[in-house]
Amino acid sequence: MNQSTPPLREHFASDNYAGMCPEATHWFLEANNSGHQPGYGEDIWTQRSTDMIRELFQTECDVYFVFNGTAANSLALAAMCQSYHSVICTAVAHVETDECGGPEFFSNGSKLLTAEADSPMAKLGKLTPAAVEQLVVKRDDIHYPKPKVVSLTQATELGTVYTVDEVRAITEVARHRQLKVHMDGARFANAVAALGCHPADVTWRAGVDVLCFGGTKNGLPVGEAVVFFDRALSDDFAYRVKQAGQLASKMRFISAPWVGLLEDGVWLRNARHANAMAQRLYQKVRGLPGVQVLHPPEANGLFVQLQRPVIDALHGKGWKFYEFIAGGGCRLMCAWDTTAEAVDAFAADLAALAR
Ligand SMILES: *Cc1c(COP(=O)(O)O)cnc(C)c1O
Repeated sequence: MNQSTPPLREHFASDNYAGMCPEATHWFLEANNSGHQPGYGEDIWTQRSTDMIRELFQTECDVYFVFNGTAANSLALAAMCQSYHSVICTAVAHVETDECGGPEFFSNGSKLLTAEADSPMAKLGKLTPAAVEQLVVKRDDIHYPKPKVVSLTQATELGTVYTVDEVRAITEVARHRQLKVHMDGARFANAVAALGCHPADVTWRAGVDVLCFGGTKNGLPVGEAVVFFDRALSDDFAYRVKQAGQLASKMRFISAPWVGLLEDGVWLRNARHANAMAQRLYQKVRGLPGVQVLHPPEANGLFVQLQRPVIDALHGKGWKFYEFIAGGGCRLMCAWDTTAEAVDAFAADLAALAR
C-alpha cells in the first residue's frame, strides 16, 4: 500500500470482506477452549449445529459442512446428476460464471444449460417456469445431455429475491419434468430476511431438494452447510466431501460458529441489517445525476450504472466494489457489519462526484 492510499475501511465489494460476527467468534473460541475433541465432524458442535439446522427447517434433513460455496454447489450438483445429465440455471448463476467449472468437474461432465439472458426476469437474475420448460423441451434425443436439475440462486446474483410463489412455480415444472431442485443459498439468510417467511416455506415446503446454506457471507469465518431435504440424494455424500478435500479434520472450527449464527436468530438479524444497509444506500443514491439504479435492491446488494470517471474517482478515494458482475453495473454489497456511517460516507462521496 503506498502512502496516498487511504486506510482500509468498510467496503462494498463483497459481503465476504467482513469478518466474523461476535456470536460466531464466541463459539469459535469456545470450541478451542475445550481441550481435545474428536476430528472429522465427530465432535459435539458438529452434532449440535446439525441438530439446530434440522430444528430450524423443522424436518429431518441431512447436513454436511464444507469450506466454501463453490464446493457446496459443485458437490451437491454432482450428487444430483450423472455425468450425462444437465443442470438448468441462469446465465449469471454463480455455478456458471464463478466456480471455474467446479460443477462440471465434480460431476464428471454434467453440462450447465443457461436460460435465455434477455428476458425481463433474466435481467433480475431469475429463472422462470417458462425458461425451465423451454430448455427441457428444446431437445429430447439421445445426443443432448438430459436435464436433471434446476439450480436457483436465493438471493440471486443480482440482489433480487425469488418469492415463495416464484420458487413453487419453478419446482412445479421441475416435478412435472422429473427434475430435482438445487438452491444456491450463499445469501439464503438475506433472502429469508427479505421475504419474512419461514425458511422451510421457501425451501423443502416449496419443493427444493437440496440447499447450499451460506454462512461465510453472513458472519462466519468459513463454512457452508449442504442441506439435503431429499435424503436419498445424500447417499455416499460424505465420501464426495472427503475426496474433494472438503472434509475438515478440525470440523469443530467450522461447525461451532454455526451454533452462534443459529442461536437466537442471529443469522436473520445479521441478514436484516445487511439488507437494511442496502436499502439505505439505495435511498441515498437514487436520483443522483449520472447514477442509474438497475433495479431496487431486495437483499443486501445494490446494482448501479455509473460513469467511468466517477467509478475511477470512487476507487481513488479507496472505495472497493466490483464492476464485472451485472453486465456493466457496479455492485455495492452490504454485510452484516456495514455501518450506516460507511453507507452515508460512500453516498456523500458519490453525490459530490455525480453532480
Ligand atoms: C459467494 C457465492 C458463492 C460461494 O462462493 P465461494 O467463494 O466459493 O465461497 C456461491 N454462490 C453465490 C451466488 C455467491 O455469491
